[in-house]
This record gives sequence, structure tokens and C-alpha cells, in this order.
Amino acid sequence: MVTARLFIDGTWVEGAERGTVEHKFTGEPLAELHHASADQVAAAVAALVRGQATAGLGPRERFSVLSRAAELVGARRDELRRTIVDETGFAHRDAEGEINRAIETLRLSGEEAARLTGEMVPLEAAPGVQRRIGYTMRVPVGVVAAITPFNSPLNTVCHKVGPALAAGNAVALKPSAYTPLTAELLVEILLEAGLPTSLIALVHGPGSQAGQALLIDERIGYYTFTGSTEVGRHIRATVGLRGAQLELGSLSSSLVCADADVDTTVAKCANAAFRKAGQVCTSVQRLYVHEDVADAFEAGLTAAAEALTCGDPRDPATEVGPLISEPEAERVERWIERAAERGARVLTGGTREGRVVRPTVLTDVDAAAELMCRELFGPAVVIRRFEDLDEAIAEANDTPYGLAAGVFTRDLHRAFECVGRLHMGSVHINETSSSRIDLMPYGGVKDSGSGKEGPRYAIREMTEERLVTIAY
Ligand code: NAD
Repeated sequence: MVTARLFIDGTWVEGAERGTVEHKFTGEPLAELHHASADQVAAAVAALVRGQATAGLGPRERFSVLSRAAELVGARRDELRRTIVDETGFAHRDAEGEINRAIETLRLSGEEAARLTGEMVPLEAAPGVQRRIGYTMRVPVGVVAAITPFNSPLNTVCHKVGPALAAGNAVALKPSAYTPLTAELLVEILLEAGLPTSLIALVHGPGSQAGQALLIDERIGYYTFTGSTEVGRHIRATVGLRGAQLELGSLSSSLVCADADVDTTVAKCANAAFRKAGQVCTSVQRLYVHEDVADAFEAGLTAAAEALTCGDPRDPATEVGPLISEPEAERVERWIERAAERGARVLTGGTREGRVVRPTVLTDVDAAAELMCRELFGPAVVIRRFEDLDEAIAEANDTPYGLAAGVFTRDLHRAFECVGRLHMGSVHINETSSSRIDLMPYGGVKDSGSGKEGPRYAIREMTEERLVTIAY
């Protein structure tokens, strides 16, 4: 069996305790996972502090390492795809999406390493100030801790590690215990690309152990986290005044106006609802569809859901694989059943085989049902009909979250109305909430978190701004 070990102080080492990584479709053991103890995490951080102080790379070297890593991800595509499929249960096409995007994210991160700069400050524009120059520079924070979720085991890890290294930091990576193997491959790739061994550590295990040990270590200057709002809150409360970028949960909506093109909208919404079996933070969970196009839209989305091939993700023809665990699949099925008990109509889906839940489309869902008010993280979508756009916007905003929303319309005036009134980190016109291009500034408001991903934006968060003034 494969073993997922720890990378501490430049060496692959074993942990004191062991866990198991399951194959997400069969449930069989896939790998043995070494858990990092609190002492091992502390040793890893100590080594990173030393490494960052002594083995720091210049911008050109960071550019080269990250660009080379992007190439190596492409070169190890088959191995990465197999690993992602096995440890996440994602369909081949979703695993390919992760790999393609990771290449782009690493490439962008490399470019930012070569571009990071401060600015001149016009001190002499102040009354009475003469013969003084001011400028700012971006200084690495030192050690960044990257804590990542299961549902983007490669690209989200690159969105954290890439900008952190590009900024000149050392990184302690704590991936999800569900998906440690992809993260391990990425660390191998970075080392092969020339990253000094003293600038990265990999610590595995449950969040409450390895993750918590990182949170309480005050030598860490910055935290970059993607995961649930619950854990995000805990991180914010624990790390105090230290910087943290928190990419958290969501309950995303998209709005389909009467003038939208139904066929293209259906195709985009089906992808946004069922990709990765709905385990995407920006997945469309609630669709507000204008009465005039609702019949056609419901029929189209139902047909699109029924056309999806579900089952064993090792088969390249599979489009929707299992959920991350049996309890998660049971929970998703239960929420659908409870909505149905409260009067919802299940247009398609609602059934489960093992961990695979069939893509599900529902209407007439009670506003108090879980499907309407809690993050599902599964392959089901609720259609709500509307006549009054104001009411649809108000409902889309009526959640503690604010990550992203989509609006389909050909009317520019209406589009900008929505942009102004949807309280979200991003609003996509003629795309769903789930639209993301890796160079975008990306992040949420309200309970969806704070801080921005996207290499150009993250690299600034992972540095400190230092002002320099010179009198001459
Ligand atoms: P999770 O919060 O359970 O775990 C995320 C990471 O935090 C894991 O590595 C976990 O081990 C670690 N962790 C858990 N407890 C910890 C603690 N006490 N201290 C330190 N670390 C701890 O999330 P998940 O189930 O892996 O991912 C799903 C969640 O992630 C969903 O809520 C989803 O919306 C969110 N997500 C958000 C975005 C975004 O960009 N906003 C993207 C992807 C996923």
C-alpha cells in the first residue's frame, strides 16, 4: 500500500500515529497516512524559519522554480489524474480540470514573483518637505501556513503554495486528510523543480491535531485557508492579529432572466451544479428562473442531469462520481428526502447507490428546508420561479454567505442592476456563480470569508508592505 509521509526539515519522515486514506469509490484502503504530532509540526516550523532566513530565493529563481513546476505538473499528468480520481472520487474530466488549472496557477504565480513591486511615495508633495524620497517594498511574511480542503486537492493547494513561494516565503502545507496524496505529489514536483528543501514542509493528519498545531505556532506569519466557515471561524479566533486569508463556505445562487438563452444557460448551470458531484464552493445550489422560461429551463436541466453518466470514476466515461464519504452521501440523500417530505417535487434524481448520488433537480422546495438554507456540497439543485427580479435578488442575498452569483440576461441595464445589488465577492453576467478563471481576484464576503486568492492578489497578502524614506 502507498504511504503518505511527512516532509520535515528537508526529509521524508514517519509520523507517530497512522490513519488510512480510502479509495473514495470502493471504500477500500488506498494509502497509509502518517499523522504529524504537535512536536513534529513545531520542528517543521522551526526548520522553515531557518530555511526562509538563509535559503531565500531571489525573484528570478522563484519565477524559474514555479514555471518549471508548472511544466512538471503537465509531465506527471497521468499519475496526478489517477491519484486525484482515487482519493477524491472525481470523474476523469474533473481531475483533468484540476491539473490544467494547477498548471496555470503555478505559471501565474511564477510571473507574479517576477512582477512584485512597491511604489514611489511623493513625499515632496507635502507642505514643507524637500529633498526626501519615499518608496514601499514588499517583504515576505516569513512562514506561511496553507491549510486546504478535499474538494480541490491540487489547484487550491497551488493557489496557496504558489503565491506564498512567489512572495519569498517558506510554506507549511497541511492538506485535507481525505486527499493527502495529491499534495505529496505536488511537493515532490516543487522539489524536483529546484525548490530548496528547507522552504517547504508537508504535515498530515486531522485538522484538530496537525492543523491546530500550526494555528498556535506564533512563528507563522500568515495563514491561507480554504474550507468550511466553521473551521474558518476557529482559525480567525485562534490566530488573533496575524494575517489570514479565509476562503469559506457558500450557498450560491444564479438568476436566469426571461431574455436568457435557455440552451446555453442550461448547459452552464448543469456543469455548475454537478461538476465534482456538486462538491464545489461556488456550485449552483439555488437557481432563480423567470416564469416565462421556467418550463423550458426545468425540462432542459432535467434532461441534462439525466444524461450524465454516474458511477465508478475509474471509468473515463463517468461524469459524476461518489461523494467524499458514505456519511456525506447519506446526508445529501437525507436533505433531498426531507425537502420532498415538505412538498418539494423531485424532477429527477434523489437516489443513491453507495456514495454516488444521482444528479438531482427539485422545485417547490420549502424555504425552511436544508436545501434552501444550508450549504449542500452535493449534486442537487433547487429551481425557484420568479416574476419580480427584486424578490429573486432579495432571496439570493438572504443567506449568511456571499461568495459568488451568476446572472443570465441580455439586458445591460438589468445586468448592472444585479451587479449593484447582489452582495457577493463576485457577480458573473451570463455565467454561473461557479465561473472562475485562475487569474481573477477571488474571495467572498460575509460568512464566505475574507482576503483574496488569485496569484496577483494573494502574493500581496502574503507580504508585508514596508515604507522606506530617504532624506538627502
Ligand atoms: P474543512 O473545513 O472540514 O477542512 C478544511 C481543512 O481544515 C482541512 O485540511 C482540515 O483538516 C483543516 N482543519 C479542520 N479543523 C481544523 C482545526 N481545528 N485547525 C486547523 N485546521 C483544521 O473543509 P472540507 O470539508 O475539506 O471542504 C469543504 C468546505 O470548504 C466547504 O464548506 C466549501 O464551501 C469550502 N470551500 C470553500 C472554497 C472557497 O474558495 N470559498 C473553496 C473550496 C471549498
